[in-house]
Amino acid sequence: GRSVLSVDDLSVEYRTDDGAVKAVRNVSLHIEPGETLGIAGESGSGKSTLALAILRYLEGNGRITGGTIEYDGRPVLDLSSRELRELRGNEIAHVPQDPNTALNPSMTVGDQISEVVRTHRDVSRSEAMEQTYEVLHEVNLPDPKTNASQYPHELSGGQQQRVLLAIALACQPKLLILDEPTTGLDVTTQAKILDLIDDLIEERDTSVLLITHNLGVINQIADRVGIMYAGEIMEVGATDEVFRSPTNPYTQGLLASLPQGEDRRLKPIPGQIGDLRTIPDGCVFADRCEFATDECREGSVEKVSVDGNPSHMTRCRRWKHAVANPIQADTQ
Ligand code: ATP
Ligand code: MG
Repeated sequence: GRSVLSVDDLSVEYRTDDGAVKAVRNVSLHIEPGETLGIAGESGSGKSTLALAILRYLEGNGRITGGTIEYDGRPVLDLSSRELRELRGNEIAHVPQDPNTALNPSMTVGDQISEVVRTHRDVSRSEAMEQTYEVLHEVNLPDPKTNASQYPHELSGGQQQRVLLAIALACQPKLLILDEPTTGLDVTTQAKILDLIDDLIEERDTSVLLITHNLGVINQIADRVGIMYAGEIMEVGATDEVFRSPTNPYTQGLLASLPQGEDRRLKPIPGQIGDLRTIPDGCVFADRCEFATDECREGSVEKVSVDGNPSHMTRCRRWKHAVANPIQADTQ
């Protein structure tokens, strides 16, 4: 079969007065039909930039500086603006990170959804509203007809998130890109939204790119996971495999920072992502890595396959050492 999405060697920069911020560098990934790929990594690692670039939603100072993006075998970077509009409406839906910018505060929820439906389907006003009630029902809003007549501010954060999902689903996309779909919600609402996404994926056989800094969310939903750091994918593989035997010191550090046991204390990785305008030689994580040697700060670090498994890749010269001495959560 053919991949739904295939990104190869993609690089993105933001131009600023102080130089170009190299937010995404040489990222390659693919998503197969019906598959969910999770992308995790701490704040500033380039997750949202990657999502925006895939749909060519970068604007202002952002631009793609290299690489290719193929959707269903078609080169996204070569599409005309008309083809791009169709792609965004009918094929790929994107739920952006900030629901406040995604919803129009001065339009009712129902009008917003039915407008999307009518942009992409040749249906009458009343048919579009019927379809709107259906999607609102699908995302488990309590009372679709009432909710359709409400304005976004009349809904709770979790309900707004459901409305965003409803808008994304209104066009029955083959690929759904979700950027932090549960951030800012309380734990109970988070769990409900996740179950909902899970059900929708199962029922519709949609492919999903799920972006989150929350590894628990990835663990629940993603078939495969890519771990991003400072604009690069540090490790990628089947979620259970990467979580069971992480090979990249950054992945190990992230997993060790998950709250463990009774005393759910976080053990964040010391330090922070460096200046993305000047990328040092060698591994981008070297400054924070307890396994790093001088050799790690030279040349460019290539991805290697883990134990000959072509679907589990890691970007670390010392991964065998890291596997033999894994970073552990602080359990004191
Ligand atoms: P978060 O988890 O906080 O959402 P992220 O992984 O989505 O983070 P991005 O939003 O993609 O990260 O940002 C990647 C890098 O690009 C960061 O260093 C950010 O400061 C920078 N950046 C993002 N947008 C711009 C912009 N318009 N101009 C300059 N730099 C930008
Ligand atoms: Mg983001």
